[in-house]
Amino acid sequence: MFRYQDLLKEVEMFSRHGVETGVVGETELKQYIPYIFVGNKNGNYMIVQGAMHAREHLTALVTVCLAKYLVKNSDLPIDGGIYFVPMTNPDGVRLCQEGVGFVADKERKSNLLKINGGSDFSLWKANADGVDLNVNFDAHWGEGVQNSYYRSAGNYVGKAPFSAAETRVLKEFTERIKPVVTVSYHLKGEEIYWEFGQKAHRRFRDKRYAEAISRYTGYPLVTLKGSVGGYKDWCIERFKIPAYTIEVGNDRFEHPFPYSQLSVIVQQNEDLPRRLLNSVVRDRKRLEKTGLDALYN
Ligand SMILES: [Zn+2]
Repeated sequence: MFRYQDLLKEVEMFSRHGVETGVVGETELKQYIPYIFVGNKNGNYMIVQGAMHAREHLTALVTVCLAKYLVKNSDLPIDGGIYFVPMTNPDGVRLCQEGVGFVADKERKSNLLKINGGSDFSLWKANADGVDLNVNFDAHWGEGVQNSYYRSAGNYVGKAPFSAAETRVLKEFTERIKPVVTVSYHLKGEEIYWEFGQKAHRRFRDKRYAEAISRYTGYPLVTLKGSVGGYKDWCIERFKIPAYTIEVGNDRFEHPFPYSQLSVIVQQNEDLPRRLLNSVVRDRKRLEKTGLDALYN
């Protein structure tokens, strides 16, 4: 199992090898959310984010592996830089893997046990406040068909958009970085989500990249009605950029998802971030030259 402590060690290793690392911000329980930056600082950035849902902690390790791949293959051309945020929800991941033992506050601890209905948190998705981070973003917030309006292991939208520390810091980080494309890794299903009400040129553009992702990974595109408030949804609305949720991991396995699938998943996604970033940057440059970029705003 890939733990928060393992992530911190990995980040330190990157840093020792001269790779830029840093902190996106702090969680509800004041733990750092680290990032790893690979590539060039030329203004064209991508954010690749994992483990927003606690029980999907395998995606944190997948994200670390994708960053490592790029560091090892530094001869491959990359037209920009990628911020890898492997574990967006470390509080939730720790709950999921360790139970409530590490939670210092007694009241929070007993509340969590109550919400969860026991001490086995292995299927927990939310943060340490019972908020599902991927429905806490300001993009048709609270209008989802599966949304819940009270604290729970999953699907609770929170008191307001960005009420969770984790979504707030990821929002601020994203606004600062101004990515040209984002990818969110979730588990499971081997599917790609690309749509959030884009029209005309943007719809065509975002679907075209999605099809390229599909060809590379072998996962089909899916349009899901009634799913809102996610990071991808917010990126599409707020920045008008292409943004994707990629569900890795074959559906024949159940949660807690087996780590034996790591190498298959990494192989399917290994060079995806770099290829996607390069395509997006190449197209943007072309459009800026012709002045047609206005069509996408
Ligand atoms: Zn998820």
